[in-house]
Amino acid sequence: MDKAKLLRQLPAVHELVNCCEFCGCPSHLLTAAARDVLAHWRAEILDKGVTPPDTATLAEEVVVLAEKGMQRNLRPVINATGVVQHTNLGRAPLSNSACEAVLKIARGYCNLEMDLETGERGERYSHVEKILCRLTGAEAALVVNNNAGAVFLALHALAQGKEVIVSRGELVEIGGSFRIPDVMAQSGAVLREVGTTNRTHPRDYERAVGPETGLILKVHPSNFRVVGFTREVKRQELVALGQRNQIPVMEDLGSGVFVDLLQYGVEHEPMVQETLSAGVDLVTISGDKLLGGPQAGIILGRADLLQILKKDQLLRALRVDKMILAALEATLRAYLEKSATKEVPILNMMALTRADLEKKAKELKNLLEEAIKGECSIELKPGVSRVGGGALPITDLPTTLVVLHPQKISSAVLVERLRLGDPPVVVRLQEEGILIDPRTLMSGDQEVLVKAVKGALQG
Ligand SMILES: *Cc1c(COP(=O)(O)O)cnc(C)c1O
Repeated sequence: MDKAKLLRQLPAVHELVNCCEFCGCPSHLLTAAARDVLAHWRAEILDKGVTPPDTATLAEEVVVLAEKGMQRNLRPVINATGVVQHTNLGRAPLSNSACEAVLKIARGYCNLEMDLETGERGERYSHVEKILCRLTGAEAALVVNNNAGAVFLALHALAQGKEVIVSRGELVEIGGSFRIPDVMAQSGAVLREVGTTNRTHPRDYERAVGPETGLILKVHPSNFRVVGFTREVKRQELVALGQRNQIPVMEDLGSGVFVDLLQYGVEHEPMVQETLSAGVDLVTISGDKLLGGPQAGIILGRADLLQILKKDQLLRALRVDKMILAALEATLRAYLEKSATKEVPILNMMALTRADLEKKAKELKNLLEEAIKGECSIELKPGVSRVGGGALPITDLPTTLVVLHPQKISSAVLVERLRLGDPPVVVRLQEEGILIDPRTLMSGDQEVLVKAVKGALQG
């Protein structure tokens, strides 16, 4: 058939929209979707001379497309990867009490910047400062948008135009946009590198100290490790050097923890408390890494230094909003009340024992077997979870994995269908099959996951 004839078979936009009105999508979305569907088929006709489907089929395509347009872009995802602190999946899930606090504060007015005792203007930062000090022994604390902002603000306020001494072994890049040398340059501080990639000695720092020095900086390597023939200068040695020369010492701990991770079988991470009590003047950490709270950067330490940061104009550009403060306060209170392991999901997931995980894996396997018998082989296998993302990249936590091998479709297809589903499910795909780690499943995820796998197998 000639192409002009085929093109005339396509309905007009309004006709097509009229056929879809039953679906409940707003008409502007239906119109936009109808235009897209018609454009697609027009191109198919012109390019390949194909016969377009009938109007009813086209209408179905329009509804599918319009419904997709109604889906939120930012959506909850099921994290079946076992990576506890997954940067691409939103880092820390918040505790229930943090979520409730956000909702309460977000939907109305609050005393963000009003001192209710005096009725005068108050400080937004005051709502969490005392709690942070109580938890860590710091004299003062300040919360900003994220840890990158915290480091930037501290360098800007304390070392603009001065030298900041950093070991070459600690000039790290954390996720692309945060590189110590670049942050340093942008803050106006001058990087003074000392030592070598694998070995830096106290004398390297000593030689670099002079009238130009504004700060000695120690940086947690976060997402990599130097192993083998190495020498790192201990924080106590840096503190002593700083004190002798009256130069403040700052440590960017990155993740930052308030509890000893050894209790979860994870390697010891320097806690904020011990870093401060070793004499480090300022510590910077993220709120949404292993602390398990909202995105934030937290600066703790000497009151006189924090006073300088609080007066820096840059603070305004890095300030946190009421929802972050609500979530952070609730998270910090769980630590104060010693209920963090139970309440804060990140800690809760790290604390799961081998027996807990084996039980969860068995449960999930049974549910999957009932739902998808014959379409997929399912086995249990010992494996490892990861703490993840800029925190403890090489720390393995033992777990039991549920391993899937679809019979009728490839593993890659199943993985893609799961990711494109609603809700999206993110799994690990490795040579041994599709790996589902029960460690990072939240309450209620199990049933949804089983349904998702069943749906994805059927296409
Ligand atoms: C993660 C990390 C940062 C950046 O923190 P954000 O909260 O992601 O901005 C900075 N320094 C170190 C050492 C880190 O691990």
